[in-house]
Amino acid sequence: MKDTINPKTNLKEDSISHRYIKSVIDKVKKINNNEEKFIQAVEEVLNSLEPVLSRYPEYIETNILERFCEPERQIVFKVPWEDDMGNIKVNRGFRIQFNGAIGPYKGGLRFHPSVDLETIKFLAFEQTLKNALTGLPIGGGKGGSDFDPKGKSDGEIRRFCESFICELYKHIGKDIDIPAGDIGVGKKEIGYLFGYYRRIKGTFENSVITGKDLSYGGSLIRPESTGFGIVYFCREILNHFKEDIYGKTVALSGFGNVSWGVCKKIAELGGKVITLSGPDGYIYDAKGVSTKEKIDYLIEMRNSGRDKIEDYSKKFNVPFFSGEKPWKVKADIIIPCAIENDIDLNSAKDIVKNGVKYLCEGANMPCTNEAINYMRENGVIIGPFKAANAGGVAVSVLEISQNNMKLSWSKEEVDLKLNEIMVNIHKNIVSISSQYGFGYDLISGANIYGFMKVAKAMYMQGIY
Ligand code: GLU
Repeated sequence: MKDTINPKTNLKEDSISHRYIKSVIDKVKKINNNEEKFIQAVEEVLNSLEPVLSRYPEYIETNILERFCEPERQIVFKVPWEDDMGNIKVNRGFRIQFNGAIGPYKGGLRFHPSVDLETIKFLAFEQTLKNALTGLPIGGGKGGSDFDPKGKSDGEIRRFCESFICELYKHIGKDIDIPAGDIGVGKKEIGYLFGYYRRIKGTFENSVITGKDLSYGGSLIRPESTGFGIVYFCREILNHFKEDIYGKTVALSGFGNVSWGVCKKIAELGGKVITLSGPDGYIYDAKGVSTKEKIDYLIEMRNSGRDKIEDYSKKFNVPFFSGEKPWKVKADIIIPCAIENDIDLNSAKDIVKNGVKYLCEGANMPCTNEAINYMRENGVIIGPFKAANAGGVAVSVLEISQNNMKLSWSKEEVDLKLNEIMVNIHKNIVSISSQYGFGYDLISGANIYGFMKVAKAMYMQGIY
């Protein structure tokens, strides 16, 4: 019999909880074979939970973990629409209502050619934990389509959104499931979705969707919230090590909504974002993406639909590295804000070689598990996305609160509440991580804290 002791958890590797986790991972692999991203997410989370299950054997007895890994509902639907030339196109729509134990399902809609059932499934699984971390009463869900808004006219996007909501409206509601934006879905798409929902239903239920324009119940700071939240969370990490954002250089990937919010806040706090990336490569701006003109240009690039970061290098006369990622660049902090698995083991090796101390995940699951393990082993402090980027969904809930109270908070009020939520997430996960013997380990802390919130609610509600 094996009696290896895991040095992190002080538990025997052949403990009941260890074997239970392994059996659930094996089952997840078996019934979701080929769903690599979903399996990656499940393994990463479950591998932190051994000490929790040892302390709460009732979660093993009631098979909470296996139930936790199975979505409550997966909706796949057809989205036919007509392009400007009169051609009829068909895309696939998805909504996964993953876990509703602590509140109505909540999560964004992603319109991107890479979207498929497995992508939405891993995002919905992670959203469940992320939403639990905010301390707000929301369950986890996610949706989207393989529709590519890039290069489409406004009319095409509107017709697509109308067709999409024609099916989705049956499955959402303020106490059921509350979508929002994500990659490829911003204020414009949310407006088309909400407008048609209102038309079909004949009711004005503005808390059925978040990320709305201010003119019909949106919240101030919602567009900035994900990016601002990431920087507030990152500031807490730095504070823990008696450091500050001021004067720090940041290597960032992406140039969409999340990157925009991060650039704005980093500039405000006296840091310097020195890289941005797109599908075509990355730019290096030694002076920093710090002026209003540069930060506003990110929105202009996004609205142009060209999806080329090279445009930034031409406009501001800075170097552009075609087909490359910015992870070889020396910086104090790394914030990947593009898409999943942006940082692989090779990039992780470059990051470690450059002596980077902090990495705060902006996008959802931007690092492979191998990259995470390598960086952790080599002393990089990692702020996991499910904690770091929870500010977006948190402000969505603040939007709902304002809708329900029929009032609007000022920018300062929303921003203050957002900061408070991010500070609390950091405090809660640090405290639980050390309680369970992991020390200052934000990844284990986030997994344990999020899981415990949901698991307790599931346990109390019987078998679902
Ligand atoms: N798509 C965002 C996320 O990944 C926001 C979701 C929401 O506001 O519901 O958390």
